Amino acid sequence: MTDQCLDFRSDTVTRPTPAMRRAMADAEVGDDVFGDDPSVERLQGRLAEMLGKEAALYVPSGTMSNLIGVRVHCRPGDEMICDAGCHIYNYEQAGYAQLSGIAARTVNGRRGVIEVEQLEGLIRPSDAHYVRTRLLTLENTHNRGGGSIQPYETVEAVCGWARRNGLATHLDGARLFNAAVATGIEAARWARHFDTVSVCFSKGLGAPVGSALAGSGDLIREAHRHRKVLGGGMREAGVIAAAALYALEHHVDRLADDHANAQRLAEGIRRIDVLDLDPDPVDTNLVFFRVDPAWGSAAEFCARLKEDGLLMLATAPTMVRAVTHLDVDGDAVDRAIRIMQAAARRR
Ligand SMILES: *Cc1c(COP(=O)(O)O)cnc(C)c1O
Repeated sequence: MTDQCLDFRSDTVTRPTPAMRRAMADAEVGDDVFGDDPSVERLQGRLAEMLGKEAALYVPSGTMSNLIGVRVHCRPGDEMICDAGCHIYNYEQAGYAQLSGIAARTVNGRRGVIEVEQLEGLIRPSDAHYVRTRLLTLENTHNRGGGSIQPYETVEAVCGWARRNGLATHLDGARLFNAAVATGIEAARWARHFDTVSVCFSKGLGAPVGSALAGSGDLIREAHRHRKVLGGGMREAGVIAAAALYALEHHVDRLADDHANAQRLAEGIRRIDVLDLDPDPVDTNLVFFRVDPAWGSAAEFCARLKEDGLLMLATAPTMVRAVTHLDVDGDAVDRAIRIMQAAARRR
């Protein structure tokens, strides 16, 4: 069905390109649980280098990468501080609590951005009544914040505060490369403020599966143990790691095209009177907009778009998300805008 559709639901829907499939077909493999898979080793080494970290660990999903990232810093009875809108807190079944015995303390960031002043006083006293405050997590780009980029100085300040207060830091960088490409600030510069960084290969980078966690050699050795107990040890994983490596080598700079297409889509949406961009402007490849309730609900709007072969995602009763990626070009964006214009005119 989606082959004929214009699919803007997510940047996870991309299909491996012919060149990526060739890299997968040609991948040298071994049993990665024995540490024998050269393609996995190469991927981990390359990512660690790009993030300026000692080591990295390939895992099946961003959810597992975050789960392990949080877990290597905390023990049961510890607490992490995070933004109330972040992915780890909202969309990962609170695995940190279910599987690791960790509590979360949320701060209401503005579009996912937490300021140092909001953190003052949040470290729990050392007293048997309290959990132990151990970790701060940030997300960049911020998904629910509309693909927004964290201001670099804020990340620096907030992570500096965490360090001064003895907290570890973890970055959910599912779309860190989008932030890097959009700002021109290299991924390694963003990453250096964090003890662990998770990135996804299966989003804008266009690989079929996989994420990775990067950090110091000690932390990643520990992460390796956690991956095994969570069932994330994979055997001839080089077949998929080769796709991720191909993505790192060929699909990072082109994220700029996705950002340009998102701007083009946003411009089209601005001209449709029953739709309202939120946030406006758009920072990267995620475009969120509200549907005027006088027209109908977001779900009804998406159902109407689908009749004309355009897929977008209703994320709240009045909110729709559209994402640009490898498989939608400028022409697809123009077609999407025409379908949205027609939908806005006729329910
Ligand atoms: C997609 C996403 C994840 C989780 O990745 P999965 O591979 O879907 O488990 C984590 N954080 C953010 C911000 C994401 O967008």
